[in-house]
Amino acid sequence: ARHFLARAAAHADLGAYLATDEAVTLAQARAADQRIASGEAASLAGVPIAHKDIFVTKDFPSTAGSKMLEGYRSPFDATVVRKLAEAGAVTLGKLNCDEFAMGSSNENSAYGVVRNPWDRSRIPGGSSGGSAVAVAARLAPAATGTDTGGSIRQPASFCGITGIKPTYGRASRYGMIAYASSLDQAGPMARSAEDCALLLSAICGPDPDRDSTSLDVPAEDFTRSLGGSLEGLRIGVPKEFFAEGVAPDVRAAIDAALAQYEKLGARRVEISLPRTEMAIPVYYVIAPAEASSNLSRFDGVKFGHRAKDYGDLLEMYKRTRAEGFGLEVQRRIMVGTYVLSHGYYDAYYLQAQKIRRMIADDFQQAFRQCDVIAGPVAPSVAWKLGEHGNDPMADYLADIFTLPGSLAGLPGMSIPCGFGAGGMPVGLQLLGNYFQEAKLLNAAHAFQ
Ligand code: GLN
Repeated sequence: ARHFLARAAAHADLGAYLATDEAVTLAQARAADQRIASGEAASLAGVPIAHKDIFVTKDFPSTAGSKMLEGYRSPFDATVVRKLAEAGAVTLGKLNCDEFAMGSSNENSAYGVVRNPWDRSRIPGGSSGGSAVAVAARLAPAATGTDTGGSIRQPASFCGITGIKPTYGRASRYGMIAYASSLDQAGPMARSAEDCALLLSAICGPDPDRDSTSLDVPAEDFTRSLGGSLEGLRIGVPKEFFAEGVAPDVRAAIDAALAQYEKLGARRVEISLPRTEMAIPVYYVIAPAEASSNLSRFDGVKFGHRAKDYGDLLEMYKRTRAEGFGLEVQRRIMVGTYVLSHGYYDAYYLQAQKIRRMIADDFQQAFRQCDVIAGPVAPSVAWKLGEHGNDPMADYLADIFTLPGSLAGLPGMSIPCGFGAGGMPVGLQLLGNYFQEAKLLNAAHAFQ
């Protein structure tokens, strides 16, 4: 823990950590030492990890990357945080992210940008940018992330690490500051599939009293099938994931990875996910709709920021929210409120829900022909800080390959598979059917 805290301090310019507290971390480490000494079995005993600042923690501030929650301390730990601690993990601190997990570049954080350690002039990806950078720059052996539309997979891809988002409902959302509740899912980000398997085993499991969408599926040991053969594994390659728009360097790295899989005994199957492009408008209706509802709790009354000067109650709400929320968050609240409003609900929100169902059905069709699906995580390598300027559409379009799996609630991974333009890492995306995390992790492990 001391080693990683020292590295975190020495590389503070990367912007990965938002909070550390050596006394708290070392106290947790000593407690873990005692558990080890007493012979207690704990799968992660003494393993230091850091948490995305979307997870609430009682021992560290929790901001969600927003000014709205500056200095906020939660009276409880998120279930994911608690479960990892029960498995013996030691918390190094909290990691930077896009405000309320809304973004693809980490540039939407109220606490400054995070720099990609492979090239500091580039973004780390988002929204779990701090998590990806902490692992890639060895400021933590592993980290937690959250993935609503790609926020574990895309930064993992851009920073050359491994990350997995489980099936929606396998990890409890309790204590994860909500963005889009029907999509939000927690998962680990680490150096390898093996490390991810260990962490995921501790994270998953039912939480019926605290998260009504948590599934009644028991925790699994995801390391159990690592090392299994890939002989005969059918890898589905969706033609829509290789359409124009995918940069040639990314394409080359993905093609090489697929060839490598064939050498490992897997069989390549051409498939189609015909509604891939629709995932962008569908997601950017549903996610803001849910966000506009979830974020209504930040009204300056119970917790978080409250404007100093105001006349009446309504003005207090307005000023608090105008001051506390960043521009992208405000944009999404407005879009979400609009698509849910009378007269537009049917035209946008309901239509989006219908297409979401069709996207999920397309995957079920595809999984009749293959065991896992493979393709790029993003159409390009990490772009330059500021490159997308004030154009949110440029960010949204880059989410095209991660959004379909999120809308369907499927498990998905990113594993490093080579380098593209500027020597930047490229990630291979692997998507599995519901509850096929072990299969995904085995396929990833064999490649690594
Ligand atoms: N980039 C997507 C968005 O901005 C996904 C973010 C996420 O998965 N949290 O909403």
